[in-house]
Formats: sequence, C-alpha cells, structure tokens
Amino acid sequence: HLQNVGFIGLGNMGSRMATNLIKAGFSVTVHDLEVCVIYPVGNLETLMFWISSLIWEVATRKTPCEVSEASDVVVTMLPSSAHVNDVYTGPNGLLHGGKLLRPWLFIDSSTIDPQTSRNISATISNYILKEKKGDLEKPFMLDAPVSGGVIAAEAGTLTFMVGGSEEVFAAAKPLFFSMGKGAIYCGGAGNGSAAKICNNLALAVSMLGVSEALALGQSLGVAASTLSKIFNCSSARCWSSDSYNPVPGVMEGVPSSRDYNGGFASKLMAKDLNLAAESAKQTGCKHPLTSQAQKIYTELCNEGHEGKDFSCVFRHYYTGMDE
Ligand code: NAD
Repeated sequence: HLQNVGFIGLGNMGSRMATNLIKAGFSVTVHDLEVCVIYPVGNLETLMFWISSLIWEVATRKTPCEVSEASDVVVTMLPSSAHVNDVYTGPNGLLHGGKLLRPWLFIDSSTIDPQTSRNISATISNYILKEKKGDLEKPFMLDAPVSGGVIAAEAGTLTFMVGGSEEVFAAAKPLFFSMGKGAIYCGGAGNGSAAKICNNLALAVSMLGVSEALALGQSLGVAASTLSKIFNCSSARCWSSDSYNPVPGVMEGVPSSRDYNGGFASKLMAKDLNLAAESAKQTGCKHPLTSQAQKIYTELCNEGHEGKDFSCVFRHYYTGMDE
C-alpha cells in the first residue's frame, strides 16, 4: 500500500526528502513546476534532483493529476497554502478527474495554516477509492509538516508533526521514518500544521529575545561570547542561544558564522508568523509577541534580507550594521 509514492514540490526540502524515499526503495513518481514546465533552470537542488532522477530513472509527470493516477500515496512539499490549494484542487490538480481516486493517502508536509489543512482533508473525504468503490472506501489525508531544515532533510533526520487519523498515522510510519528520525502524532486534521506554526512562533520570539539581550550586553560592555556562555548554563538557555547563536563568531557551523547564508530564510519565518497571527485572530487568542515578531521580520524582509537566515535579525535589526 505504500510502495508507489508520488512526490510534488522538489525544492530545498522536497528534493532531499524524495531522494531519501528513493534510497529507501520506494518507487517514486515526481512533479515540480521547475522540472516539468520551466525545465531544469530552477534552483541548484532542483537541477541536482533532475540529474539524479535521470540516473535513477525516477518517473516524472507533467501534472499533479498524472502523479495521482500513478501513486498509492502522494506527498506534497510546497511553499505556502496557495500553492497547496492549487496542487490539490486546481485544474490538473491531484483531485482533478472525478470522484474516484487511486491514492489512499495524501500527506502534506508544507508549513501552511491549519484551516487550509482541515479544508483539504474534508474535501478529500468526499472522494472514494478507485479500486474499492464497491465498499465506498475513502482516501485519507495527513498534515505532516517538518522541523529540522535542509540539513535534516538531507540526512533523513527530520521530525514530523502529524494531524489526521491516528490509525493512518501508524500505517504511514515507514514513510516518515525513511525521511526522518521522529514522527509525533498531534491529533485530528490540521493539528500537525497548528503544532508547526506554534513551534515556529516560539522560535521566532526566542531568537528575538536572545538577539536583543546579546545586543544590550554588548552595549554594556559584556562580550556576546561571554554572555552566551552564561545563558547556556543559566535560565536563559534555549536553542537560539546554545545551538543556533545569532552573533557571528560565537559558534561555528551555524548561519551567523557564514554571513547568515543557508538555514531558514527570514521570508519563511515571516510567512509562518503571518500564519500564527492569522490563526490567533481566528481563535480570539491574545498574541502581542506574535504581532511584534511579525512586524520585525516583515521589516527585515522589506529591507532586503528576506533570503538570509532568520538569525540575521541580530545584525540587521539590533545592531543596525550594514551587510
Ligand atoms: P522551496 O521554495 O525551495 O520549494 C518549493 C518547491 O515547490 C519549488 O521547487 C517549486 O517549484 C515547487 N512548486 C511551487 N508551486 C508548485 C506547483 N503549483 N506545482 C508543483 N510544484 C510547485 O521551499 P522549501 O524550502 O523546500 O520549503 C517547502 C515547505 O517546507 C515550506 O512550506 C517551508 O515553510 C517548509 N519548511 C522549510 C524549511 C527550510 O529550512 N527550508 C524547514 C521546515 C519547513
């Protein structure tokens, strides 16, 4: 039931995730606008994937609909809610072509708003499986965004946060563990997406807190390396201080040590904060720090740093230094 996997969205994350599925022995059929429409002139990852796919004889299809027809399970890894809606419900989308579908499972790993995940899941439950129409069996959807970034996508050590049916989650574990080292069940449809945007909200705010405190420390004459050492054995310790320090020279191998290149782009963080703010408004939840973080990251993007890692907020917001 899991052997034929369709994969749509072969960007920074998807190209690496699909590669790990292929290495794990799944028969993978792929589609991306870059591969199939613009031809391989997109980013380097897409080009590399395209070359590897020729070597591995990976099947490519021109539309999501054709991927759907060739797959038992389809995984999507797309930039935002609009792209996900387009790939599922647009013309030639995964659900195009009548009420009978071949795939019994759709897994969306994009970071999108929980409501879009819930809407697509509800739409899919109106379909029936082609091979089992006698029993009117329905296909399923899991929202399964990831944490870990490009390095973990490449190493196959992502963590999936999964919403949907728990039974289906259990059945899909071989797929998750071919691309990641962990998969946490979060509850019903949309709860994986909800968990992901909450994680990134907490991350955005902790990065701002650490950056602001380290900038203040420096202005008071305490070196960022000294202050970070103190944080990391005190109550201010967090991932933003001990694993992803935003001040150049404090840690090696993190984006701040390579001019904030690679890592998680500020524009993606701004997008995730917009999703968190939107969800907070919808549920009537107070969100003063989300609003402030949203404002800061949007300013950072508008000033031209949208492609830099989000920890560049230290240099470009708190110290005001030029690149
Ligand atoms: P990306 O922009 O590198 O890749 C997205 C791919 O989707 C591109 O190749 C693009 O051509 C393709 N695409 C867009 N619209 C399409 C369509 N209609 N049909 C077919 N293909 C289409 O993005 P990414 O960095 O791989 O991120 C993907 C998702 O994962 C985002 O939601 C992001 O927030 C999330 N994410 C990213 C990271 C990270 O570190 N990059 C970490 C965790 C989660």
